[in-house]
Amino acid sequence: MKCENCTKKECSKKQKNDDTQSTSVDALSSNDGFEEKNEFHTLANAKILLSDCLACDNCMTSEEGARVFQQNQKELFRILNLNKKCDTSKHKVLAVSICPQSLPYFAAKFNLSVNDAAKRLCGFLKSLGVHYVFDTTIAADFSILESQREFVQRYQRRNQEEHALPMFASACPGWIRYAERVLTNLVTSHICTAKSPQQIMGSLVKGYFARQQNLSPDKIFHVIVAPCYDKKLEALREDFYTALYNSQEVDCVLTSGEIVQIMEQKNVSMKDVTEVAVDSLFDEIKEGDVVRHDGKRSDGYLEHIFKHAAKELFGMDVKEITYKALKNKDFQEVTLEKDGETVLRFAAAYGFRNIQNMVLKLKKGKFLYHFVEVLACPGGCLNGKGQAQTEDGKPDKALLNQMEEVYAAIPVRLPETNMHIQKMYQDWLEGMDSKKVQETLHTKYSAVNQTASSLDIKW
Ligand code: SF4
Repeated sequence: MKCENCTKKECSKKQKNDDTQSTSVDALSSNDGFEEKNEFHTLANAKILLSDCLACDNCMTSEEGARVFQQNQKELFRILNLNKKCDTSKHKVLAVSICPQSLPYFAAKFNLSVNDAAKRLCGFLKSLGVHYVFDTTIAADFSILESQREFVQRYQRRNQEEHALPMFASACPGWIRYAERVLTNLVTSHICTAKSPQQIMGSLVKGYFARQQNLSPDKIFHVIVAPCYDKKLEALREDFYTALYNSQEVDCVLTSGEIVQIMEQKNVSMKDVTEVAVDSLFDEIKEGDVVRHDGKRSDGYLEHIFKHAAKELFGMDVKEITYKALKNKDFQEVTLEKDGETVLRFAAAYGFRNIQNMVLKLKKGKFLYHFVEVLACPGGCLNGKGQAQTEDGKPDKALLNQMEEVYAAIPVRLPETNMHIQKMYQDWLEGMDSKKVQETLHTKYSAVNQTASSLDIKW
């Protein structure tokens, strides 16, 4: 990963994209899923540093490149070793938060139930010297609830405010990076301002949890275990840095695959690890069984926002969502009819080709959707490039199929039913409409000037 080596060069991905759009975008949309990104990156003909990022390495500044490079297993061991030294002033409380889309990988790879996988992963991390292991599902609860409310507000403002709709989901950093650096003003004002589950987890650990433990945020080293590399870049965003404490919300992101590498280096098998219950952010309570959100291949933004909007805006209770596949299984549509009129039209667009088609429709003014759940990876987050890859860097389809089964079998918990969330809104966030909610759970997205921020790249 030597971004410093990138000097002036045309972005070959952008050239390809332009070529594609000027010929036939629809011709691109016959993909059947998992191979797409690799093909895309091969076409890019550039040195790819974050192989699963929609934006190639060309858009990383040298500083970002160096800081992303630091986010690896060595960084975790640097902190673990510091904690063994006599100088306690340099010790850190080590907290690791695990994304729910990583757990099916450990479960399927080691032939465990998802609950056993969570407990064994926790046991392994604690055997290394990690103090706390959390599940990021509670952060996704907050992210979904804030996205739901924002959608309803945008819908109500749609006739007064040009950019109120469509609203695009903001949870995928691959999509966000591409939107900010390539699509720029065309989409940035349409991106939901709710922070991603990863970054809300950062606020919970460095804000809420630190306060409970009477710790300064910089005394906690917070690691996220995630399905993709794009989240390493997300952790570096300026918005997620507190100058007062010289502290990022998330200090280091390790992919699920990087955790397995640590196990292999240490000659540890998940099957031999002692099970330890996952910690909760709340006192001495431990987490119970693993739960997920609606949406069998994602964090469920589309389904939760759709049901919430149907109820809030039209007084309709939607129990089951019926998807209509459009070009392929990664481009699907959901509609709500009332009195013979389509009042809500949502889409899920996963993978670069479907995103390209969606953007083309937006450019042509033929955009019918009120909300789109955009994910960079075909198939969604389980197919993140930080897990379930064969040795030659292709998706391990057999493993992915197992992971999808594991994930779909996890029970669903609605964010609205999480009692801790309601209490935190009142006690910690000072009410649902407070300034603190905006500061803690939201961020902003804007066009990034490539020439100002990167290494003289022409898009
Ligand atoms: S779809 Fe999920 S795994 Fe893929 S880049 Fe986005 S956040 Fe990462």
